[in-house]
Amino acid sequence: MTVDRDPLSHGLWAASAPPAPKTAPLIGDTRTDVAVVGAGYTGLSAALHLAEAGASVVVLEAAGIGYGGSGRNVGLVNAGLWLPPDEVVRRMGAGDGERLIGALGEGPDLVFESIGQHGIACEPVRAGTLHCAVGRGGERDLERRHAQWAARGAPVRLLRGDEARTAIGSDAYGAALLDARAGTIQPLAYARGLATAAIATGAVIHEASPVTACTERGPHMRLETALGAVTAAHVILATNAYTGGLWGELRTELAGLPYFNLATAPLSDVALGSVLPGKQGAWDTRQILSSFRLDAAGRLVVGSVGALRGASRAAHRNWARRTLARIFPQLGPIDFEYEWYGTIGMTTDALPRFHRMGRVLGISGYNGRGIAPGTVFGKALARYLLHGEALPLPETPFARILLRRVREQVYEHGAGIAHALGERF
Ligand SMILES: Cc1cc2nc3c(=O)[nH]c(=O)nc-3n(C[C@H](O)[C@H](O)[C@H](O)COP(=O)(O)OP(=O)(O)OC[C@H]3O[C@@H](n4cnc5c(N)ncnc54)[C@H](O)[C@@H]3O)c2cc1C
Repeated sequence: MTVDRDPLSHGLWAASAPPAPKTAPLIGDTRTDVAVVGAGYTGLSAALHLAEAGASVVVLEAAGIGYGGSGRNVGLVNAGLWLPPDEVVRRMGAGDGERLIGALGEGPDLVFESIGQHGIACEPVRAGTLHCAVGRGGERDLERRHAQWAARGAPVRLLRGDEARTAIGSDAYGAALLDARAGTIQPLAYARGLATAAIATGAVIHEASPVTACTERGPHMRLETALGAVTAAHVILATNAYTGGLWGELRTELAGLPYFNLATAPLSDVALGSVLPGKQGAWDTRQILSSFRLDAAGRLVVGSVGALRGASRAAHRNWARRTLARIFPQLGPIDFEYEWYGTIGMTTDALPRFHRMGRVLGISGYNGRGIAPGTVFGKALARYLLHGEALPLPETPFARILLRRVREQVYEHGAGIAHALGERF
């Protein structure tokens, strides 16, 4: 399956991304230093950095490049995790926590440097992001985040009153945290660009090649697909929230949170003068959050928690229309031209997971913040295999989520009900 067939899987991003590099399914047996399973940011960044260092690498992708979260997301390239940095330290301890915050704080640097270095055409805009405060509680949240990042020397600024209203183009929010490290990209185009760069550097990518078996063969691992097999010294498992049954343990520690996006027609020049005039990507402090950003054509992309299926699909669409009318009344009546959704991998403590299963290494569970982390962790996995360099994330034991499927149903149907009932921003 490529990323283009289902209009609800990749929507606008499939319509506006440059074509993917041509690849073929794996046929026959091959050997390589490292086999990577999954062609999202984690797998592609690992493949690129391994190939740059001269290692042979084969990427096996079940569907198409960027088929998972990497081709469906909002495109907000953020620094750090969803958790405020002090909370990361509280959960991980000072040593591990600060190391992770440091590595992910610099994550957008790596993303935008990679885009520049490899000439990736993915609509990069490094104008920062705006985290928008809902009510006094939201402002207090942003004050804490601002203080914690500022104490670590990050270029963050808390905008209030008119400054916030002008930056967002809306009276709906009283404050916003501007993080100058961050920015936006066209996410599927970034994944395709990483793949093109990895291939140019010597990596081999096979799409339409789901791995169906993974077995140890002496000092090697053997990965099987329908038509071929790869024998590798090491395996990087980069399947994240799209992990299937083969690595069931990995899947059972991630609860899938659905998230959808709708994109308007390109806005008029007048509207573009007031809606996010600085071209920052934005999201708000609500638990069932709203995100909004512009693409290069001037379309406004609005998103929130939920899956565009069943009865909820209409509820989410109506919610998006009402929400945009409330946040940006200057837009007038709104038509959506694209809609799509995907699955975010959530962990119980909102921290990512690193597992070593013999010769198989995997990092996953980015909790909705995976563009910079996927790129950083892919590089870190490559350097770990190449040079034995420590990863910025300690190894974690498997921790199955209790009642995971119930939790997933609550996420999906709870968001549908909240949006149908007119949950406001
Ligand atoms: C709707 C949505 C909005 C988001 N918004 C943002 C955002 O604005 N900013 C941000 O930073 N992050 C965001 N995220 C999170 C981010 O997209 C992910 O964390 C990130 O893309 C994960 O990258 P990955 O490479 O680890 O995994 P993925 O991109 O999910 O790739 C996993 C790949 O593994 C493949 N695979 C699975 N099983 C097999 C198998 N057996 N054999 C071969 N291949 C297999 C899948 O087909 C898939 O292509 C969002 C996610 C979603 C879904």
